[in-house]
Amino acid sequence: MTPANPFVGHALRVPRLPVADAVAVAREAFGVEGTAEEIGSHQDQNFRIDTPDGRYVLKVANPAFAPAELEMQNRAMEHVAVSLPGVVPAPVRARDGADVARIEHAGRRYGVRLLSYLEGEPLRGFAYLAPGTLREAGQLAARVAAALASFDHPAADRTLQWDVRRAGNVVGAFAPDVRDGRRRDLVERTIERATTALEESTPTLRRQVIHGDVTDWNMVARRNRAARPSPCGLIDFGDATRSWLAAECAVLAAAVCGRRPARALQDATEVVRGFHAAMPLLDDEIAALPALIAARGALSAVGTDRQSALDPGNPYVAGYVEDGWDLLATVAAIPQPLAHAAFREACGLSALPTRPAPRRAAPIAEGFDARRAVPVDFSVRTDALRFGDWSDPVAIAAAVSRAAASSPGATAVGRYGERRLVHDRGPGREEPATVHLGTDIFLPEGTDVLAPLAGRVLRARGRELSISVQHGLILRLAGIVPTSNVGDDVGPGQRIGSVAAPGPEERLPAHLHVQLARGSIEELPGLAPASLAGAWLSLCPDPGPLLGLDDAAQCEPQVAVLDRRRRFVAGAQTLYYPASPLWIERGWRQWLYNAYGRPYLDLINNIAVVGHSHPLVEDAAARQLRRLNTNTRFLYDAMGRFAERLAGLVPDPLGVVFLLNSGSEANDLALRIVREVTGRRDVVSLEGCYHGWTGATDELLAGTGDGRSARARPVVRPNPYNGPYRADDPRVADRYAGHVRELVERLARTGRAPAAFISEPVLGNSGGVLPPSGYLRQVYDVVRAAGGLCIADEVQVGYGRLGHHFWAFEQQGVVPDLVTIAKPAGNGHPVAAVITTRAIADEFSRRTDLFASVGGGPVSCEIGLAVLDVIEQERLQENARDVGEYLGWRLGPLAGRHPLVGALHGMGLYRGLELVRDRGARTPAREEARAICERLRELGIIVQPTGPGANVLKLKPPLCITRDDVDFFAEALEHTLSTGW
Ligand code: PMP
Repeated sequence: MTPANPFVGHALRVPRLPVADAVAVAREAFGVEGTAEEIGSHQDQNFRIDTPDGRYVLKVANPAFAPAELEMQNRAMEHVAVSLPGVVPAPVRARDGADVARIEHAGRRYGVRLLSYLEGEPLRGFAYLAPGTLREAGQLAARVAAALASFDHPAADRTLQWDVRRAGNVVGAFAPDVRDGRRRDLVERTIERATTALEESTPTLRRQVIHGDVTDWNMVARRNRAARPSPCGLIDFGDATRSWLAAECAVLAAAVCGRRPARALQDATEVVRGFHAAMPLLDDEIAALPALIAARGALSAVGTDRQSALDPGNPYVAGYVEDGWDLLATVAAIPQPLAHAAFREACGLSALPTRPAPRRAAPIAEGFDARRAVPVDFSVRTDALRFGDWSDPVAIAAAVSRAAASSPGATAVGRYGERRLVHDRGPGREEPATVHLGTDIFLPEGTDVLAPLAGRVLRARGRELSISVQHGLILRLAGIVPTSNVGDDVGPGQRIGSVAAPGPEERLPAHLHVQLARGSIEELPGLAPASLAGAWLSLCPDPGPLLGLDDAAQCEPQVAVLDRRRRFVAGAQTLYYPASPLWIERGWRQWLYNAYGRPYLDLINNIAVVGHSHPLVEDAAARQLRRLNTNTRFLYDAMGRFAERLAGLVPDPLGVVFLLNSGSEANDLALRIVREVTGRRDVVSLEGCYHGWTGATDELLAGTGDGRSARARPVVRPNPYNGPYRADDPRVADRYAGHVRELVERLARTGRAPAAFISEPVLGNSGGVLPPSGYLRQVYDVVRAAGGLCIADEVQVGYGRLGHHFWAFEQQGVVPDLVTIAKPAGNGHPVAAVITTRAIADEFSRRTDLFASVGGGPVSCEIGLAVLDVIEQERLQENARDVGEYLGWRLGPLAGRHPLVGALHGMGLYRGLELVRDRGARTPAREEARAICERLRELGIIVQPTGPGANVLKLKPPLCITRDDVDFFAEALEHTLSTGW
């Protein structure tokens, strides 16, 4: 009996030609002499042929395919190659000029082709694909599709099992054979939904020849400079056919969904974004994508299942049966309207118009008067919660009560669209759901909940009730004990339940969560992650009109904030992650929160030494701001107290302080002091080292060389890891110090001598590199013997961060003549100082006076004192030592496991992880470092590269960081290094 469906019983078994025969065919039919190795295939048999002149692929076609189909594949590849040379394999003609050689094996005839081999690795082999890589993959698929748009061939209209246009038939034919009932159910439900959705749009979908199987298996990639995969080629035209153009995009999007189910829609969206950028999709095509993706998922599941049943000996297929079902489960769980909204957004289209929420016919709860509603601010910038208490239910309840108490009879409400802080669970690898998709009404437990409109109850379970109301909208109420049942018709004002007690996981006090959604979404979350917030909000309109409220959170999109900054702030004031800056609106301890409420572990803020938003610092600032803040020519006590405190932290003979605003100013003043005091102008500094942005400090960085008028005299930086002398040289310190000695001698020959030597005692800007032991002692001796002074720039490396020492110069066993401090001294508020000796200060004061209007002002000094109090009270230097040691212990072994990790520099909580392309040459892995930082950002960690090669991950977190944070970072880093970036 002939089956009704053309696919049923199709003997798509892979041919089984022995390797020796493949070698012989390559030689005899194509004149190519080489060795053969079998490589996997779904339905053909493929051999890689290696010859001295290059590589080829010998494809033994499944006999199910007609010669014209094979010929079409060759023509299609040649056609694509005209506009995209090198992107697809090139067919090699047989010796007799034919496209396809005919062979016989085990009594069957096979068509055999030879193709050039595309160098690269299948994208599938990369465990992680960054959003940019996914976009590139989408672009490549689109470029090939664009090339194929002008291609045609008589065999293009073939009937193919993998053609998504036929998914309904194929799944219909194969599904009954699926033994597992739950799987069968899922695949049948999915295909039914997809085909129903597609019926509407099929007439308008563009048709053309497409590759038909653009997946991560068939796309090959080369590594770019960052060692990230960059898709560059497409192989296997075996499924080329005339189909819907949109299917080309959908197949790749579906493949991507299977890779990382937790981010399936976000990753698919990147593919669509890339595809659309290279070949714009029409509105209807975008609308069809979710159903096409679902249909492809259904096809994959039944197709692989079927293929494995037909061809049990094909290990290539058997291994992927589970993958097929997993993929289906993933794509089936993506709400199609959500995917549609996300794809529209990615293609730059406006959100689909939704009708505004219907107006209420009755209040939603007994006694609730919308005119008396008062919003409680749960946003990232809230003033209602502080110092981390947004994760404390008691504090949240108090904030709610304060709002409710703000006017008689008021009810507190939580706003629609709010980007919330109150769901903070600390940094995690996954993006948390923080954007509120409904409105919360805080009502006492047991309050009667009433139907605001007529409707029918769709769902009533647990603490939830959904009612279908007018305009195809669903009203979802959560935090309710439902009294109505599924199927009940309810009328306005009818009691449908009562406000429930908060659940055990719930942080907010008893409240009714009111949410509207355009119909047909089964599982409605109450919150969305920022990456899908736009799409979700377009599906869940503001329930304000339904409730009589007009208080949705006003949330600017990031582009508006970025655009304002770019328009009005000079471009020289650059941003971290310039391609996609991180929008941060709150800090607390060692965490930074983006504007959407996602917390990140902050590993780069040495400025926030005691942690972000420290209550004692805030208190000191607020108290002093209330009392007095003025210029520094008045007598007020704080200045003397702060200077006294600083003087107590430095060894003799240091002890007199100049107070300023910034590190640049402090170093600039230090340079001015040494020049005034010595009457000389030459300053010896370390090559490429940063001491500030002022004219004098910038001159040091610019290194004005040896010209007679030069004032900056840079010498080689004492970096025993990648400088000219290495740690294994027993005289490494002498050799580096020798450069200073030589320079001083050279100056002396022209009758000059240095005013000073300036350096960071530990090379912070190189990533925390410790100079060889004894280096600074030798250098200071040489400089002082020539009558010069020694400046230690402790702006980054001082203030307890090294753990074992308060000052970095202690690590080198020296005492400088001048010490400069800034960044941590004010925990982010402008506080800086030059600390020097009485003799130097007096000599300078004899020659000139100094007026820094607010440097050392009352507020700055009180903050400076508070910071020092906290460092002491919370034993933060000890914490820097202990947690820093632990960090070293966790990160040290990475170098053994990952060739990219060259060294871990530093001490305490000033560390640098140096990434190199080659351990021997120590070539900076600059692009890799940047890409790894981007990946770590996705994983909830802020870290940035530094150093002259921008290849050292600088680790200088607030000193309140814990071992748990170190574990979180170390695991994320290990994960990144193992799975790619
Ligand atoms: N010295 C060093 C070692 C620095 O790293 C910096 C800033 N990165 C400065 C001085 C300048 O400090 P500021 O930005 O406060 O002017």
